[in-house]
Amino acid sequence: MALTVIYGARTFAKDLYGEMVFFAALISGLCVLNALKFMKLLDGGLDALQMDRQFQLVFYIYMSFLATVLPPSIVWLVLRRLTDQLRHIAARDPMTQLLNRRGLTEALQLSFNQRRAEHAHLLVVDVDHFKRINDTYGHHAGDTVLCRVAEILQATARRGDLVSRLGGEEFAVICLNTDFPGAMHMAERLRAAIETQTIDIAEGGHPLQCTVTVGVSQGFADAHALEAALQQADAALYRGKAAGRNRVETAGPSMAPPSYA
Ligand code: GH3
Ligand code: MG
Ligand code: MG
Repeated sequence: MALTVIYGARTFAKDLYGEMVFFAALISGLCVLNALKFMKLLDGGLDALQMDRQFQLVFYIYMSFLATVLPPSIVWLVLRRLTDQLRHIAARDPMTQLLNRRGLTEALQLSFNQRRAEHAHLLVVDVDHFKRINDTYGHHAGDTVLCRVAEILQATARRGDLVSRLGGEEFAVICLNTDFPGAMHMAERLRAAIETQTIDIAEGGHPLQCTVTVGVSQGFADAHALEAALQQADAALYRGKAAGRNRVETAGPSMAPPSYA
């Protein structure tokens, strides 16, 4: 039982530390009582286990307590675990393991609610001529490219920034607490990082290189403004594509200063 608790604490229950300590305490109590009982048996034989003895009363009460508390606690733990897993699945893109659009919205909401972020900029990153990659090397190679692009974006973004896959070959990065020049700088870093990486699509095959176009929104300070920021970044992306791809474009031709209102 102790081994099970140790194994559980090291593997599936890393985020259930408090609960595991609680179970460990309950089980330790049981171990102590059993050890005492064993010593009493050695000492006084079966007579020591008479029900009218004080020790037996304590033992009985403790066992009744465990029998009452443990089953609902275990059911609660399992349900909590399943709920966490469902929440995780619902918020992630299964192929790249990045946040999906729903996960991005929730994570942004949380950042603003917990005041971890005061304002943000949205970067929409779209792989250039991705259809050609699919058509030339096959859908599987296309998937490999998407996974690698996701890894590069995650590795290049700052810690705390939110990286997600919006769908298809379109990704979004939300830079938190960054001013407009900072967001532009990050967009350029992401673009350059992808341009310079080679991607192995098959063993022994030629590695691939791809580029992305990035649209940058103006600043916003509220999760409800995400939709508007997506439209701004999309419009910028569209201009970037028209202007030749593999480039960073901003939300407005006038480059108006970002508004955090
Ligand atoms: P542009 O430079 O203008 O962005 O052109 P594009 O070819 O990248 O964009 P387009 O919208 O014409 O094509 C996107 C392609 O991405 C079409 C679709 O079949 C493919 N696609 C969407 N989702 C996936 C996916 O999960 N895996 C793979 N391999 N392909 C996908
Ligand atoms: Mg594309
Ligand atoms: Mg696209």
